[in-house]
Amino acid sequence: MTESRPTPTVRLFNMVVFIALMTGLPIWVWYGLISVTRFDGALTWPSDGFWSHVQGPSWKGAAFYVCWLALQAALYRLLPGKLEYGQPLPDGSRLPYTLNGLKSFVITIGLWALLHVTGLVPGDWIYTHLGTILGTANFVVFGLCFYVYVLGRRQATAAERDLNPLEAFFLGAARNPRNGPFDWKFFCESRPGLTFWVVIALSCAVHQHQSFGAVTNSMVLACFFIVLYIADYYVHEDAILTTWDIVHEPFGWMLCWGSLIYVPFFYPLAAIWLAAHPYSLPGWAAVLTFVIGVTGYGIFRQCNIQKHRFRRDATTRIWGKEPTFIQTRHGTKLLTSGWWGVASHANYLGDLMMSLAMGLTVGLNTFFGYAYFAAFVILLIHRDWRDDRHCAQKYGDDWKAYREQVRWHIVPGVY
Ligand code: NDP
Repeated sequence: MTESRPTPTVRLFNMVVFIALMTGLPIWVWYGLISVTRFDGALTWPSDGFWSHVQGPSWKGAAFYVCWLALQAALYRLLPGKLEYGQPLPDGSRLPYTLNGLKSFVITIGLWALLHVTGLVPGDWIYTHLGTILGTANFVVFGLCFYVYVLGRRQATAAERDLNPLEAFFLGAARNPRNGPFDWKFFCESRPGLTFWVVIALSCAVHQHQSFGAVTNSMVLACFFIVLYIADYYVHEDAILTTWDIVHEPFGWMLCWGSLIYVPFFYPLAAIWLAAHPYSLPGWAAVLTFVIGVTGYGIFRQCNIQKHRFRRDATTRIWGKEPTFIQTRHGTKLLTSGWWGVASHANYLGDLMMSLAMGLTVGLNTFFGYAYFAAFVILLIHRDWRDDRHCAQKYGDDWKAYREQVRWHIVPGVY
């Protein structure tokens, strides 16, 4: 079953939303960063002088950011890794992916540590230059979005060519724009964005240590959750090949800018605040935060791996039992046991618990510690809605049968 075409009014409305997001989100990221680094994390109305802290591109920022992208691209292309094939495309073919993300991640963190230990580049250089890096990265990434748009237009299928230029730029002109084996979506979704999120957090920890002579338990927890989340991503890199983004999403501004700017600069606001505020959680609160984060991680990991293994081999046991599922007329199977029998997106629940735990590291001191969690709630509810619509269109009555068995979307008993 194909997706129904939106009416002209819906398309017009969507385009207004796209323009609003492409303008508003970069401002929102600047607002968060300036509030945290210049106004002690206070939620203020940006009055006179606030926006003077926005920084434009600089040679220093450009040198750093271009080297960063080049390093990540070189590691992606040159490091050996397991060759895996993605899910079948509409024409039945499967794209190859080299899974070398963990090696690339370890080498990058090792390089950052080496530069710090040898005194060549202080570990907190990135924290102290965040403004100019963001100012430059925004320009570079918008340029990259134009490049993948042009590339995508050339590689688009007939159905994808139906999008007008604005829709194609924002949503993506093609599902998998590639230069030979270099897959832009797979690369941008992880390497330069997710690894940078970790490096920014670690850079904040170094800055806190250099400024105050110690690293607080809050900073340790914030960095621990981020490192755990991203290291786990790379350890289970093959599972990414069955996610919504890789399987269904075209690659445009939304994913490209989101992965390269929104994730690394907005998600670590708690750690960025802690860099200049040596706040420690009381012991009981630190333990509670740890438990929430690790439990969330357990749900997230188990849920994603259950689906991934089931899709590769439908006889894999789940929670010690034979899996139960609905055999759809479309051909694929919908799992109804394990976490996929509890809620249709229990993985989002785990993810949300982890982001909440990252926020809790700042106590009640700044809203911006929780900005990632708050934005993530909206993003994942919207994503769940989109995915539900996609599955309803794709699977028809089989999805209705699944929904009858699995009523809850994300939080059992609540939503
Ligand atoms: P999922 O991995 O949850 O995949 C959804 C797809 O799985 C559906 O489109 C459908 O695809 C298939 N599916 C749905 N129900 C079932 C079922 N019962 N049994 C088997 N397959 C089913 O989606 P996401 O890609 O959104 O999420 C992957 C992970 O990434 C999550 O943990 C999420 O939290 C995380 N994430 C993190 C973000 C971040 O910024 N940190 C942003 C977004 C996601 P099909 O058509 O193949 O049937």
